Amino acid sequence: MAARIFAFANQKGGVGKTTTAVNLGAYLANAGRSVLLVDNDPQGNATTCLGINPRGLKISLYDVLINRTPIQDAIALTDRVGLDVAPASVDLAGAEVEMAGLLAREQLLSRALAPVTHKYDYILIDDPPSLGLLTINGLTAASHGVIIPVQCEYLALEGLSMLLDTLRQVREVLNARLQVAGVVLTMYDGRTNLSQQVVAEVQAHFPNEIFQTIVPRNVRLSEAPSYGQTILSYAPASAGALAYQALAAEFLQRMEAKP
Ligand code: ADP
Ligand code: MG
Repeated sequence: MAARIFAFANQKGGVGKTTTAVNLGAYLANAGRSVLLVDNDPQGNATTCLGINPRGLKISLYDVLINRTPIQDAIALTDRVGLDVAPASVDLAGAEVEMAGLLAREQLLSRALAPVTHKYDYILIDDPPSLGLLTINGLTAASHGVIIPVQCEYLALEGLSMLLDTLRQVREVLNARLQVAGVVLTMYDGRTNLSQQVVAEVQAHFPNEIFQTIVPRNVRLSEAPSYGQTILSYAPASAGALAYQALAAEFLQRMEAKP
């Protein structure tokens, strides 16, 4: 069976896209699924989080998208069995410009993934904080939809209408199956009214898409990347780890209940 492919998108930076993609990926692998994490962000944060130095890469997503290097040649193993990564480095920023001149420029990632979709249960695409061509490529490849992380902070929903508008355009022209597969609340601080307000607002806007699991603000989650580790390796008993474990269980229940 072909992999279920999800993009993690929100044009706001720092809302937890990478943290969610990486740690959800780790717990899906821990639950016995084979997972490919595609680092579709020139910042290479997902690559770093998985213990790979973006500066030492011989082949990265840039080569896959622009030079048609087979993605199999770029994929690296991580120290977690079942979790592989297609890493990115800073040259991916140039890809955004170079892509603009290519035919079928929105479908480069979708096409690049085709040879490996039968090898994985899940492919998670970590998009950059913009609505540019890299993100459009991620959304076009996302056969099973987009996961939107929303940070529990002031103006959390600001800009989401622009993202939803982009989703609608991609759905019309490039990927008819594109849907909002989930909305994840991140960096929740139970001590503030603000966090609770954001939860209520998101529940009102996305009653069916919101995940019941809410990821708390947890310092272990922010420390793990500097050790090149997922939260499952770094601090499996932390509140952040328990949240991503619960999110993975809820994710599997939601995604595997339907064909
Ligand atoms: P994005 O990919 O959307 O830009 P990140 O996942 O990189 O966002 O998160 C932004 C920053 O916040 C990172 O330094 C990350 O370690 C930190 N972070 C993410 N989620 C949490 C959390 N639940 N608690 C504490 N820090 C977090
Ligand atoms: Mg990121």
